[in-house]
Amino acid sequence: MSTRILTRAAELTGNRNAAVDIQDDTRRSYARCQPCGWTRDHGTAYREQLIKWAQEHADQCTALPS
Ligand SMILES: [Zn+2]
Repeated sequence: MSTRILTRAAELTGNRNAAVDIQDDTRRSYARCQPCGWTRDHGTAYREQLIKWAQEHADQCTALPS
C-alpha cells in the first residue's frame, strides 16, 4: 500500500509532485517528502500516527520539487 499526501506547495502551485509519499515494507512504514527530503518512519502497526505526522508536515511544507 502506498499513500500520497499533497503538500501546501501543491495546494499553492498545483504541482502535484509536491507530496509526501508513504510506503510500507513488512515491518515499517516510511514517509518521505519528495521536494524537501523530510523523512519519518514508524512500525506498520502505527501507520496512522505516521500519516498524521506526514499530514502535519505537508500542511506547512512549501518546498517545490527541483
Ligand atoms: Zn517537505
